[in-house]
Amino acid sequence: MQRAQSASSSARSYDLLIAGGGVVGLWTARLASAAGMSVALVDAGAIGAGASGGILGALMPHAPERWNGKKQFQFEALLSLEPAIAALEAETGLSTGYGRIGRLMPLLDQRQLDRARERQDDAGRNWQGRDRSFHWTVHSPATGSDWLAPAAAPAGVVFDDLSARLDPRRLCAALRTSLDARPNVLLIEHDGLRHWQAGKAELASGAIILADRLAITAGHQSFPLLASLFPLPTELGMPVKGQAALLDARCDPGHPLIFDDGVYIIPHADGTVAIGSTSENSFDAPFSTDAQLDVLLARAFALCPSLADAPVIERWAGLRPRAIGRDPLVDFVPGDANTVIATGGFKITLGIAHAMAETAINRLLGRPVELPESFSIDYHLAKAARIKR
Ligand SMILES: Cc1cc2nc3c(=O)[nH]c(=O)nc-3n(C[C@H](O)[C@H](O)[C@H](O)COP(=O)(O)OP(=O)(O)OC[C@H]3O[C@@H](n4cnc5c(N)ncnc54)[C@H](O)[C@@H]3O)c2cc1C
Repeated sequence: MQRAQSASSSARSYDLLIAGGGVVGLWTARLASAAGMSVALVDAGAIGAGASGGILGALMPHAPERWNGKKQFQFEALLSLEPAIAALEAETGLSTGYGRIGRLMPLLDQRQLDRARERQDDAGRNWQGRDRSFHWTVHSPATGSDWLAPAAAPAGVVFDDLSARLDPRRLCAALRTSLDARPNVLLIEHDGLRHWQAGKAELASGAIILADRLAITAGHQSFPLLASLFPLPTELGMPVKGQAALLDARCDPGHPLIFDDGVYIIPHADGTVAIGSTSENSFDAPFSTDAQLDVLLARAFALCPSLADAPVIERWAGLRPRAIGRDPLVDFVPGDANTVIATGGFKITLGIAHAMAETAINRLLGRPVELPESFSIDYHLAKAARIKR
């Protein structure tokens, strides 16, 4: 049973209002309700229909060298996601298509091979979980592979056993189902947050919701929303368009995903294969696909010739949230200890959204939070000031 309602039916007050029901907002609602908070989640459109309603779903770690706080945050998130997904799937009976299938990266020449070998040691040092370690291994050129074409990897191939994948739509559906079953969560669709002041939210319809705290998780629209609600010198991020395609490839879902210079090939649990993504800072038509996707498909088919005959069953485009300082933004908004913003996960959100959500809730509840400085609003404001000059 779906419990999405209109705001007019919500006369009561909530511990937390969440603006935006993509993966970040949905995880925030799940974790907040588990912490005992009453939650109203409002979405300007349909829940899970923004960037999180896409088809790719790669959960890939940053490269293991030049380790820093952001890489450690993502590494820990990629580890904690697995049990979080297992709990979600057990609770809802729904699959998210999650699988730690690993990743192949082709090497083109000696320089890339040498670099990849150096990274083996970096991974040995930095990819250490509490009870499990992960590996970045370099292999000789494969022969006779029906997945990654040997000709596409003349100098060899890197395999990492940390990367995973999930189906973003299935993840959103499972998160939503878990929220539908919680009596302390209200979901409102097609009625976004327009105004917020001192615990009183006004939605686009004019409906009022009272809440002690606010979490802004509106994806790329968080940036204009934040700038409209709080006095900021500039918007702290922007949308970056991406295009992707889904193939009815009937592929072995145990194949590792392939990543090569911006091309992702993701074998999903149901045998489909997703191919992405363009990265467009300027665009006229945010949600339509064009010839750039065909170029991407041609590159993917050169990597995996066995996919070339698979029917394309969907072409999809969406807008990723990218914060101005490039790293995610998870912090209080200036001058308001009851409002947090959590956005800017850009190309890695799906693997860290639950950790962004946990951090946002811990901030609101006054619990200690350890975050890289580059996730703070001050960092992004400083970056914005430098760009403006
Ligand atoms: C082609 C493509 C491929 C990608 N591939 C990957 C990948 O392989 N791995 C990965 O980790 N990431 C990937 N991403 C990025 C990832 O999908 C996004 O970063 C992520 O989904 C963003 O989640 P979000 O919850 O922040 O935003 P969204 O999913 O966009 O959700 C924001 C929600 O807020 C709502 N909203 C907007 N304004 C308001 C308002 N005023 N009030 C209330 N609600 C509002 C919107 O309607 C929307 O539902 C990809 C993105 C694209 C486009």
